Amino acid sequence: MEEKKVEYKTPAEAIDTAQETLKKIEPENPEPKKEKKKLSLAAQIFIAMVLAIIVGLCMQNVASVADSYIKPFGTIFLNLIKFIIAPIVLFSILAGVISLSDIKKIGMIGGTTLIYYLCTTACATTIGLIFAYLFRGAFPMLSTSGVSYEGAEATSVMDTIVNIFPSNFLTPITDANMLQIIVMALIIGFAIILVGEKAAPAVKAVNVCNDIFMKCMEMILKLSPIGVFCLLCPVIADNGPSIIGSLAIVLVCAYIAYIVHMVVVYSTTVKVLGHMSPLKFFKGMMPAMLFAFSSASSVGTLPINMECTEKMGASKEVASFVLPLGATINMDGTAIYQGVCTVFIAACYGITLTPQQMVTVVLTATLASIGTAGVPGAGPIMLSMVLASVGLPIDGIALVYGIDRIFDMGRTTVNITGDASCTMIVSYMQKKREEKAAAKKSA
Ligand code: ASP
Repeated sequence: MEEKKVEYKTPAEAIDTAQETLKKIEPENPEPKKEKKKLSLAAQIFIAMVLAIIVGLCMQNVASVADSYIKPFGTIFLNLIKFIIAPIVLFSILAGVISLSDIKKIGMIGGTTLIYYLCTTACATTIGLIFAYLFRGAFPMLSTSGVSYEGAEATSVMDTIVNIFPSNFLTPITDANMLQIIVMALIIGFAIILVGEKAAPAVKAVNVCNDIFMKCMEMILKLSPIGVFCLLCPVIADNGPSIIGSLAIVLVCAYIAYIVHMVVVYSTTVKVLGHMSPLKFFKGMMPAMLFAFSSASSVGTLPINMECTEKMGASKEVASFVLPLGATINMDGTAIYQGVCTVFIAACYGITLTPQQMVTVVLTATLASIGTAGVPGAGPIMLSMVLASVGLPIDGIALVYGIDRIFDMGRTTVNITGDASCTMIVSYMQKKREEKAAAKKSA
């Protein structure tokens, strides 16, 4: 038998290898486990939601107390998430670009990712519109008098393109302008790659910063049970169970569309383009999906999503580029929500959308989803752009705003599942490309 020769460069390397080997041997003689069973974060969040509904119902007569003393803690939680998203997106995309280390490869992966994201989002809005039309007859005619919502101002397409490029180094971060942060990360990342060897300390610094901010996110997310409770309880106390009852049909419609989109679109793409069993995909994604459902934040779910996709075999370099990008620009669930809510709001005002208006909704919803970050409650901001694009009253958002959290949990789950499906597909394609290139070289 041929003996394997092992060479160690340093003593530390020899110790590391010895420890690794020990770790591999240990499971054969396991020590009795003394681990205490801790409730998973997703379970804690679920309990917090149930408690919020119960306490909210009990506080209906003192709703102002819930608004004054409970809601602020929810706002603190949201503020913390908003505080962390700019550095998370900047450093995770930077780290992703650097790890790919080849600009041509980034172009290839980036191009495939962008096309996939745009196509699935357009599909999602269309599915949302179709289901909303199927349910249209069942939508309740809610009173639209007295509702008000301040929407975002609509900007022209050219202005939107110009605004993607930052004119200042700091404002993208201070304004949490996601598209500008992505452009910034790409430019700096490319520069680091091009500088090469000399930029090694920068590479290390970026990776360390990425780890630090991911840790911050993890710490903030530990507060999610409290955050969820404090956000949901005042909503229930203010609106009572009636709001959920009267809007139940819109919720049911949105959730059916969410499920159909995931089952039909993602199963097909994962199977056909990624050569992966959809069942295996959804099973592997369960922890991330549960977390997204309870936290309502795609950016917050990033670390778990990375873990799940890597466990399913996605390459780390693809995941660390495609997932942070998806958490900011790919929102299929939000697009479905926009399709459903646009038809619902139109129905409440007694308006029927023309086919041209529907095409406009699909285009605007697809583009609007690009610029908004994956944080709780981002959907209504985008919805105001969509409503404005087809001349519907923005005030209509107030009709669904009270139960936005419930819509948000479902749409975030779809959002992150879409990001993960893209990661699996791009990773598979990249592997195939590399195999082909290797075969060509050796031939
Ligand atoms: N909460 C969603 C997300 O994080 C965005 C939205 O509000 O639709 O993906």
